[in-house]
Amino acid sequence: MGTFTCLYCGTVKQQSEASLEHAIPQFLGGEYAPKFFQITNVCTTCNNRLGLWVDASYAKSWFVTNHLADAARLLCTKLDDLGLPLRCIGTVEIPGLNVPSDHVSEYWIGPSRENILWIRPHDDRMNSYAGGNPIDTKKKPSVAYFFPVSESAEKHALGLASFHRAMERRKVRKILCVEARDANGSPLDPTNCGFDAPSPDDVVNRAAIGKAIESGAISARIAVDKKFDLRFMCKLVLGIGYSLFGDDFLARATAFEARKGVWPPRDGQSSTIRGSSTLALSDAPFARVAGYPGAVAIFVMKTGPMWSMCVSIDEKLPFVIELGSSSMASPHIDAGEGYALLLFPYLNSHVELSLAGLLAHKLGVMKNPDLEKIDVIRSAAAQFNVQLSVSS
Ligand SMILES: [Zn+2]
Repeated sequence: MGTFTCLYCGTVKQQSEASLEHAIPQFLGGEYAPKFFQITNVCTTCNNRLGLWVDASYAKSWFVTNHLADAARLLCTKLDDLGLPLRCIGTVEIPGLNVPSDHVSEYWIGPSRENILWIRPHDDRMNSYAGGNPIDTKKKPSVAYFFPVSESAEKHALGLASFHRAMERRKVRKILCVEARDANGSPLDPTNCGFDAPSPDDVVNRAAIGKAIESGAISARIAVDKKFDLRFMCKLVLGIGYSLFGDDFLARATAFEARKGVWPPRDGQSSTIRGSSTLALSDAPFARVAGYPGAVAIFVMKTGPMWSMCVSIDEKLPFVIELGSSSMASPHIDAGEGYALLLFPYLNSHVELSLAGLLAHKLGVMKNPDLEKIDVIRSAAAQFNVQLSVSS
């Protein structure tokens, strides 16, 4: 067995410690990115630890959680779908609600404003993660209360699917908070539609939440970690820089600085990699140019002496970071035209084209056939959205 140098920590490791890694993480649609974004020179330690502390810090931030939910909604065209991601409102305190001392209650809403109250374990270190510590919620018990909308059977079905999808792979008891009835008006057993039988505590909680929702006086708190994206940006530089530019990228100063950004040294010496973080750019009109509706957009372009990368979600939350010297060449990029990868996590698909080609499509100068297909889905989704939002 040979050895390899881990892309993320730079340590020489045994081949047996290598793991398959998506340079673009799965929550951004990386599983469906072009094959060359799959890399094998990442050690299992980095894979596990960076998943929890770096990917999740970004993915579960309030901003990214909700913008990915918005992006999915722009592409959802049918009611019998897998379900849409829920939007996170924040943590709440509700009078009369029974919350164990090491738990918090978190308020979420579904696609037609279904109310969801999730009482889940709290982890101080992940205070800013929507949904809390993702490992804890897989293993430790929690309980989620679901208040469906009843105005139409179709909305009801999509709301249900969305709730069950959001709670899958979690050790969560699911409590339905209306009396379910069949088409003839007879009461239904909630355990027949994926819910658990309520305990006496649940009955008390259900009433307390129902009362709070009715009063309209639920105020939520959002915890924000201002550095939620910094290590993630550096990790993405390593994964994408290596996927696009290969070994030449590893020999450059940017790769070295990005590693320092992913694993900040204890002596406080910070990375000198240049870029603009998400919150610094949050209001920039530039996000509209550097993105695509409903897409996770990754752009790579030459800016003076450097290659730069810009990432945005649904034309929002852009960040920009340098990727390395412009003297590097990539078999995947026409240096004059730049590179654009649009990922559509909700559709399990991607569109890859030049940055010049993308701008031509957006301006209507020259349409890209793959993006035209996405545009058709988007206009169908816009009509569907009206149906979802309007009370019938
Ligand atoms: Zn490593």
